[in-house]
Amino acid sequence: MGKGFFQVPTAFNEPINSFAPGSPERDAVLKQYSEYYNGSVDVPMYIGSKEVRTGNTRTMSPPHDHKHTVGTYHLAEKKHVSEAIQNCLDSREAWANLTWEQRAAVFMKAAELLAGPYRAKINAATMIAQSKTVHQAEIDAACEFIDFLRFNVEYMTQIYEEQPDSAEGIWNRVEYRPLEGFIYAITPFNFTAIAGNLPASAAMMGNVVVWKPSDSQIFSAKVIVDVFKEAGLPDGVINVVYGDPVMITDTVLASPDFAGLHFTGSTHVFKELWKQIGNNIHTYKTYPRIVGETGGKDFIIAHPSAKPAQVATAIVRGAFEFQGQKCSAASRVYLPKSTSREILDLVKKDIASFNEPGSPADLSNFITAVIHEGSFDKLASYIDQAKKDSNAEVIAGGNYDKSKGYFIEPTVILTTDPKYTTMETELFGPVVTIYVYEDKDWSDTLKLVDTTSEYALTGAVLSKDRYAIDEATKVLQNCAGNFYINDKPTGAVVGQQPFGGARASGTNDKAGSAQNLLRWVSPRLIKETFVTPEDYRYPFLG
Ligand code: NAD
Repeated sequence: MGKGFFQVPTAFNEPINSFAPGSPERDAVLKQYSEYYNGSVDVPMYIGSKEVRTGNTRTMSPPHDHKHTVGTYHLAEKKHVSEAIQNCLDSREAWANLTWEQRAAVFMKAAELLAGPYRAKINAATMIAQSKTVHQAEIDAACEFIDFLRFNVEYMTQIYEEQPDSAEGIWNRVEYRPLEGFIYAITPFNFTAIAGNLPASAAMMGNVVVWKPSDSQIFSAKVIVDVFKEAGLPDGVINVVYGDPVMITDTVLASPDFAGLHFTGSTHVFKELWKQIGNNIHTYKTYPRIVGETGGKDFIIAHPSAKPAQVATAIVRGAFEFQGQKCSAASRVYLPKSTSREILDLVKKDIASFNEPGSPADLSNFITAVIHEGSFDKLASYIDQAKKDSNAEVIAGGNYDKSKGYFIEPTVILTTDPKYTTMETELFGPVVTIYVYEDKDWSDTLKLVDTTSEYALTGAVLSKDRYAIDEATKVLQNCAGNFYINDKPTGAVVGQQPFGGARASGTNDKAGSAQNLLRWVSPRLIKETFVTPEDYRYPFLG
């Protein structure tokens, strides 16, 4: 504690820029996009104070123009991972002992840098690396990331303020120690904000971190590092390595000082990591914290009373924004027979109004590319199978082309089988599957929604009928960590809708909340007695 009970500025959600024609932010982001796109950056690993270039490089290409390169990055060998761990341990004491307000200031400064001088950079880098439209980049890389940093600083102080009562003559206090060891942050491709937040939230609580970003996000990860450096994050607090995830993970998880995993990505990978940590448990000095936010098969269910235009909009926005590559994207939809035709006609009309999938540099595009060839090929195979299967029909989209970019048309599959494979499997692309139920089967359909998928991340019910909303809220209690009434199931905002799911969707430690930050501290209770007893005998002994 410093010499004062400091109050941090009240956190607020960063306003979203419109990027309307003629706006200064539009000009700035397009200029930056062009500069990055026509440039070539060589991204090193960041280990302690060193920028490490191994010479073993991979190129970086925008998913919407995969023959074009925008730079290279360097792959780690085992010794670099060991150096990253050692740098964590060497930096730990100074960082853990720094007064909290100094740590807070680093991350508050990072938020303001992102809101101001780095905004166009982080947005343009995210448009290029992850093929996000400017709006999707803005709500992720700029606004959500800024919100994570600002709100987490506030939550950190709320945690520190949480103190026990003290009886007369004693003083009880709790200090929230960083974990003893280092944290391993593994981040996904799809959100620049998550990539920044996973290492930052642990570091904010005084921890040191080895961060392994996704290979598909390194171009925008570099801007995150630039921001942290300019904000004054000391060297060695967050060490960044790239390359073979298995080798990196094996090396990290073999360290006795491994103290926690902060993961976001797919379910299978997380379960394997959990298993590996379990197998190594006798190696560790402390029980590692395991936090993972993973896959989803997010639903929309419409009641017969729901307004068709509202259901259609929830589907179109929920399923297709960022090409369906949000963990919260709507991918299975249950429509009542009575309004299904009208809803589907509206969905088809909306899809017909989109441009062909293309580059995010053309701001009139709503749909751009999926992240990489593996994802493209997987999506294409499911679409092809649906075209062949007698219990499925492709009623919109269904075409794809990877000659220039990994472009998949927004696709709607109608199935007569509520357990059809694309009602159950996470595809992670612009493909939504619809099942039409008989209106009288509303209650049974809710049970079907609950039992169809292994995941429980997000879901939405649309209805004008309050009894139906109440019933859905109860029956679907365990099948979504974020449940939406009369809205799409995407677009959680930090400070308003803390995010995370249960079942196979993760440990539900709610990114962007005090609950998450609590996982990165180990409280120490200090009891101080002012008049210390000098005789062991209690009064009852006579
Ligand atoms: P992914 O699982 O392929 O990769 C995530 C990270 O894990 C990457 O850094 C990757 O390199 C690493 N990785 C891959 N194999 C590994 C291994 N064997 N050992 C260690 N690390 C390994 O996921 P992705 O394609 O980057 O992201 C999409 C997935 O993330 C989807 O399943 C999505 O639902 C999920 N996601 C969930 C949330 C959430 O909050 N629940 C948020 C975003 C994304």
